Amino acid sequence: MPITPAHHKAKALPSVKRRPAKELCSECGLCDTYYIHYVKEACAFITQHIGELETQSHGRDRNLDSDRELYFGVHQDMIAARKTEPIEGAQWTGIVSSIAIEMLTKGMVEGVVCVQSSESDRFKPQPVIARTPAEILAARVNKPTLSPNLSVLEQIEQSGMKRLLVIGVGCQIQALRTVEKQLGLEKLYVLGTPCVDNVNRAGLQKFLETTSRSPETVVHYEFMQDFNVHFKHSDGSIEKVPFFGLNTKELKDVFAPSCMTCFDYVNALADLVVGYMGAPFGWQWIVVRNDTGKEMLEMVKDQLETQAVMSNGDRTAAVQQGIAAYDNATTIPMWLAYLINFFVNKIGPKGLEYGRFSIDSHFVRNYLYVKRNYPQKLEAHVPEFAKRIISRYKLPKQ
Ligand code: FAD
Ligand code: SF4
Ligand code: SF4
Repeated sequence: MPITPAHHKAKALPSVKRRPAKELCSECGLCDTYYIHYVKEACAFITQHIGELETQSHGRDRNLDSDRELYFGVHQDMIAARKTEPIEGAQWTGIVSSIAIEMLTKGMVEGVVCVQSSESDRFKPQPVIARTPAEILAARVNKPTLSPNLSVLEQIEQSGMKRLLVIGVGCQIQALRTVEKQLGLEKLYVLGTPCVDNVNRAGLQKFLETTSRSPETVVHYEFMQDFNVHFKHSDGSIEKVPFFGLNTKELKDVFAPSCMTCFDYVNALADLVVGYMGAPFGWQWIVVRNDTGKEMLEMVKDQLETQAVMSNGDRTAAVQQGIAAYDNATTIPMWLAYLINFFVNKIGPKGLEYGRFSIDSHFVRNYLYVKRNYPQKLEAHVPEFAKRIISRYKLPKQ
């Protein structure tokens, strides 16, 4: 008689029930399935074990003595790229959707876990297992809220699928990697995006209302490396608001507690990562972590224009000043914000140095948040690579 896996006896939590990670839950979706059985080891906010999972996923540890690996994780290649024919309506040029479509149509996978928008609310994520290119395309563009991508995991086992691509952000992928062996798959491909400063649905509303001139028409937004938030409105217009002009006091607690304690900005456990932060403006940034990631990128090579990654400037003074500014939670007037923005654009860090600027600033902020709110978690929750990065800065005593 076949042995029933232990998790089949577990039961998904009803959506109204508090998750095991309590207020730190990032709503990754695992607890919406019987894989909740593994939550103690799998949840990124209960057990941090990125180092162990890096070795499992990529066959080796992150080299902490290499500046590039310390910041951007285990990798064999890093390039800047853009689609020669961008996908209309994609977040950037649509490299993520294009890879997924090629993998599906060439038969490398039978399904793709991705996230569409709910019909009733454009910002409510609706995870799906896409089985056609049209379903993948319907998932293009970021849903800027916590998204339960793993809530479809039970359907995978039930469907009998053996080859699967999962698209997701760091906290989802950490849980996925922990339960990977229980999914009954022959091959799992993981396509990740970087992720930072995410919000729950209520937090998103507060952010839009405090920052945009027309919150009800915003279709999507992104924190860009020109140091502005770009809001795209339903009429196609783009509104730019400088980071320095954000109402820091109002927005101090807008980000989800999970994201204030997250150190997996660069999605360390994905096979291939597609973001923008290490690339020149308008280009995407691609990190190939292992041979599986290389195989995935190969699928779209003929659709891409590429160039080597570059790095320019020195972020350290800007990061150090930012620490004090964030702590004081001061707001500066819009006109001054635009002026500062102009100068930072001219002389600010570029390419990989911009990536390091963003990682440094977020890691320091999150470290202070964990230290002040969850001191008992600090030692085990902050990964070694993040501790090394943070140690380069002078932090407030308390
Ligand atoms: P598209 O072809 O438009 O595809 C986007 C894919 O993302 C879709 O397949 C969809 O399933 C998936 N997706 C959308 N929303 C979510 C979600 N909430 N959770 C999980 N999966 C989702 N890159 C950086 O370099 N720096 C950042 O700071 C940064 N922050 C991000 C924050 C969030 C919340 C997200 C989702 C992404 C972020 N990215 C960041 C990644 C970047 O914005 C683009 O998603 C990436 O470059 C891919 O662009 P694309 O045009 O190829 O994607
Ligand atoms: Fe469960 Fe995911 Fe929330 Fe952790 S983050 S408690 S695994 S739903
Ligand atoms: Fe998850 Fe971290 Fe993104 Fe928050 S910032 S959604 S915790 S990967």
